[in-house]
Amino acid sequence: MPTYLRIAVPSPLRRLFDYLPPADEDPDTALSLPSGIRVRVPFGRRSVVGVLIATATRSEVPLSRLKSADAILDTVPLLSPAVFDLCRWASGYYLHPPGEVFTAALSKRLREGRAPLQDAWRLTARGQGLGEEALARAPRQQAALRALSGGHAVEASALKSQGMTSPVLRELEKKGLVERCESALQLPPAAGADGPRLGDAQASAVRQIIADAGSFHCHLLEGVTGSGKTEVYLRAISHCLQQGRQALVLVPEIGLTPQTVARFRERFDTPIALLHSGLTDAERSQSWDRARRGDAAIILGTRSAVFASCPRLGIIIVDEEHDASYKQQDGFRYSARDVAVKRAQLEACPVVLGSATPSLESTFNALRDRYRHHRLEQRAGGRAMPRLSAIDVRRQPLTAGLSPVLLEHTGQALAEGRQVLLFLNRRGFAASLQCHDCGWIADCEHCDARMTVHRRRRQLRCHHCSARRRLPEACPQCGSTSLIANGLGTEQAEDFLQQHFDRWPVYRVDSDSVTGHADMATLVSDIHRGDPCILLGTQMLTKGHHFPGVGLVGVIDSDALLFSADFRGEERLAQLLTQVAGRAGRGDLPGEMLLQTHYPDHPLMQALLTRPYAEIAADLLLQRQERGLPPAGHIALLRTDARAEGEGETFLQDVRRHAAPRIDAASQLIGPLPSAMPRRAGKHRSQLICLSTDRASAAASAATLVAATEALKAPAGLHWFIDIDPLDT
Ligand code: ADP
Ligand code: ZN
Ligand code: ZN
Repeated sequence: MPTYLRIAVPSPLRRLFDYLPPADEDPDTALSLPSGIRVRVPFGRRSVVGVLIATATRSEVPLSRLKSADAILDTVPLLSPAVFDLCRWASGYYLHPPGEVFTAALSKRLREGRAPLQDAWRLTARGQGLGEEALARAPRQQAALRALSGGHAVEASALKSQGMTSPVLRELEKKGLVERCESALQLPPAAGADGPRLGDAQASAVRQIIADAGSFHCHLLEGVTGSGKTEVYLRAISHCLQQGRQALVLVPEIGLTPQTVARFRERFDTPIALLHSGLTDAERSQSWDRARRGDAAIILGTRSAVFASCPRLGIIIVDEEHDASYKQQDGFRYSARDVAVKRAQLEACPVVLGSATPSLESTFNALRDRYRHHRLEQRAGGRAMPRLSAIDVRRQPLTAGLSPVLLEHTGQALAEGRQVLLFLNRRGFAASLQCHDCGWIADCEHCDARMTVHRRRRQLRCHHCSARRRLPEACPQCGSTSLIANGLGTEQAEDFLQQHFDRWPVYRVDSDSVTGHADMATLVSDIHRGDPCILLGTQMLTKGHHFPGVGLVGVIDSDALLFSADFRGEERLAQLLTQVAGRAGRGDLPGEMLLQTHYPDHPLMQALLTRPYAEIAADLLLQRQERGLPPAGHIALLRTDARAEGEGETFLQDVRRHAAPRIDAASQLIGPLPSAMPRRAGKHRSQLICLSTDRASAAASAATLVAATEALKAPAGLHWFIDIDPLDT
């Protein structure tokens, strides 16, 4: 009987593919090949690297039509069993092609079909047999032999730092005394250095997390900014390492700052593997390898690190769990937070979701006792929470968006030697460019959006696609030169602040001015000197940074955030403003936050000023429950990108007609409708929403929608995708 290899092949198809074993493989041994190994297979006209999901003795495809695999690439799987199961789950839950999901769990090097990097050395049997005095005339080679004489392998980088370079090792290799190998460290249990004495709430959280070691539990650690959540993580990790296990720590995209890394390195004298977008492919591949071999005790990374295989995982931490960057917004649209919770379940280990402003999803789970809820209500070290107040800017003269009251407070704080953080969530010079004579407005050619004025680079830029144009000198419609820039951006505020407060430096922090990890590192170390200055920036400034010198935080345009079409708008605003406020007064002096608004009486503004986030979140959750929206309901979004207007809607109408009879009463279809921004980057976007009251119906309906869509022939140039638990609708 033939053996079939069932393989996840990287392709947009939501299915596995059957192959015959390579011609030189014995069918009986082929049957016992382990799941999770990589197999090179012909696919179309290409040869690609897939992952073996299972072997089988039957196939639905006739034998004559099956191709043979080209090669079996591994003898043992390079995915841990838990990550293998996690990928299978994620492919089903997110209805995403399995090949692409498995690809997300392999480093680039492994995806390319190359062997794992062999970056450790050990003695061969011959090398082990040598006496102490061997190679006395080659002292560097002798030293290398001695370094390896402990009986286990040593990483090349560790040898190099002791002065044993690759030429020396290659000499020894030629003599048959040493050889390359993959695995290196056999880590002794590493405890963390001592931290500060824990407060009662911290200690109780740590106790309960530790008590759960070795079994799955989800902990929601809700602690106000500066309450010592990180300290709780560090203690829980320290306990995990003492048990000889690994810790996986996820942080938001821009939260993996040099400060964060330094804090971990200071505390733990153990190898840490970093995984983030600022690394080269080789560095990333190496981090994946070190996690997989168990050489790194701590894996600290952004979203995609949730798929890093770890043989002895003991705990998962998701810091700032509410952060939107945990959701991948293209291709494989998963939520790393949700995947982390599933992973902890598969690994039978605790997971800690931490935030000062937990998502309503996690709050809901805590309320229903699915998560253990720990609250840290006070700042650590007896520091006070910042005072919040609104500045009513109605009828006030504004210069570059700043009211006299905010300017006065800013001046005062600077004069007292403190730092001021001004928050403005729009980069560029101005929001739009308009002709004063005829009313022409500079729109993006490819999106239903206005172009932003960037005066420093003399450009108009679209913040929704990559479109850029030269800043016009005259109106293209009537030729007038009275062009006016409407709406404030960070460049303009920077110009004004530099003039107005010329005795103090102004640092602008947005994705135009700060483009890499190095830029941010320099900036942070400047600011840490503590000299009075103004920090002017976008959301980039609000995450993960601890600026002890900041005494005053000003929000220049709160109104821009107050009105949003998205049902998550209010939750986001409450999270954002609470996080921004949290940057104030983290040093020894209390801090203050001022919100400029035209709507001081708006209920949400009032709530923000007078009530803690947890209460606001509880209210918002009630509203969601009344409306049956997430987290009380579940959404799947089927979205199309089309070249022609209306094409997407017509196609989605068709999908709806085919799917509707098989959608049960717990789910309803809404649409098709144009998306919030109907045209973006030249594509017309439409969507069909499926809103369900229970999870099982949501999953079944989403699968029905995908099946109906796959069965229909989409017009050429129309792309579609399904987004399960979308963040934006
Ligand atoms: P969070 O992660 O909640 O923002 P951190 O863990 O960063 O809070 O703690 C804020 C500051 O308080 C840090 O400087 C930290 O070293 C300090 N800290 C944390 N826990 C304690 C404690 N128990 N006693 C004294 N200082 C503490
Ligand atoms: Zn004009
Ligand atoms: Zn555009």
